[in-house]
Amino acid sequence: MKFSPVQTPIHSVTLPELQAKLRELGQPPYRAKQVMEWLYSKRASSFAEMTNLPAALREALGAAFGFEALELVRKLGAEDTTQKFLFKLEDASLIETVLIPASPALYGEGSDRRTLCISSQVGCAYGCKFCASGLNGFARHLHAGEIVGQFLRVEKLSGERINNVVFMGMGEPLANFDNFMRAVTILNAPWGIGLGARHMTVSTSGLAPQIRELAAQPLQIRLAVSLHGATDAVRNRIMPVNRKYPLAELLNACDEYCARKSQRITFEFILIEGINDSLEQAAELGKIARRLDAKINCIPYNPVEGLDWKRPSLRRQDAFMAALERSGADATIRREKGGDIAAACGQLRLQVSREKDA
Ligand code: SAH
Ligand code: SF4
Repeated sequence: MKFSPVQTPIHSVTLPELQAKLRELGQPPYRAKQVMEWLYSKRASSFAEMTNLPAALREALGAAFGFEALELVRKLGAEDTTQKFLFKLEDASLIETVLIPASPALYGEGSDRRTLCISSQVGCAYGCKFCASGLNGFARHLHAGEIVGQFLRVEKLSGERINNVVFMGMGEPLANFDNFMRAVTILNAPWGIGLGARHMTVSTSGLAPQIRELAAQPLQIRLAVSLHGATDAVRNRIMPVNRKYPLAELLNACDEYCARKSQRITFEFILIEGINDSLEQAAELGKIARRLDAKINCIPYNPVEGLDWKRPSLRRQDAFMAALERSGADATIRREKGGDIAAACGQLRLQVSREKDA
């Protein structure tokens, strides 16, 4: 389904594009910077607020561009814990955004950071068997203004400054490559939000060609790969994308990413009972990670209503981690914050749409 907003969303426009538009309107060059300052420093929510612009210009901008209207439908979680926001978009689609409070570094460097987990699509076409986001298929891509809008809205609603962004919400960000890159540019730019590229992590289920494309981009964003299986047999069973881009091809693309970016990547590995939690899988995973000098982030599976997959017992999780350690790999286990508020990928949206259908 294609969705075209009525007006060009102002939060999806870059400085050079705005400069070009203003030139067309016969405006001096400094006007574009003034508008960006209103948008990203003063966080204006309308052109009417931009009082140092001539009234006629405000009107012309209002005719050309629209402001994002992410409507908060539901919020779960308390101030000092994981907070989950369900937003309704212009076309009534629902997306989720999760704010995770300061904790030891999960992705990137350092601790004491507030991380925002952003959605990149409505639904997901990749249909991983364990995931709530793909259960109802793919609806549409988010445009860059909706991606940037999640950051702006959550900062406003929470009163918190966000210093880390992970593209791990609903959707496959690399399947929405152009809008994703545009949003990253705006989040990173000095005229935009000004968030360092190393404070952004993109997670992919393994789109090898797009990983290579990302490797060729100058921005140093971090890459996390949802591996979830250390052999083709296991990945094929739970992730249909592996039939298109099998492990060897995926790992080649990862190699290229590491080489061109000179940074370490992270493999995510959700532990699912009886599927990928054997000691053999741990040994294989350790081997792969060592070869690529990658970090491993294990996450006990968060059960999804209606799906049969289970989280392994603590004992089994510990045995898996011990085997990884023996292999010499750099691995941590993330005992999920916010599992109790349906914080895993796509679950709140699913819950709300089921309530509506009930
Ligand atoms: N599509 C991208 C990014 C979004 S999913 C990707 O797949 O990487 C973000 C992470 O959440 C992925 O590693 C995904 O596999 C994981 N995930 C999905 N459902 C989950 C669940 N029920 N419990 C734990 N992790 C889950
Ligand atoms: Fe899509 Fe990622 Fe969920 Fe797979 S895990 S269905 S790629 S959102």
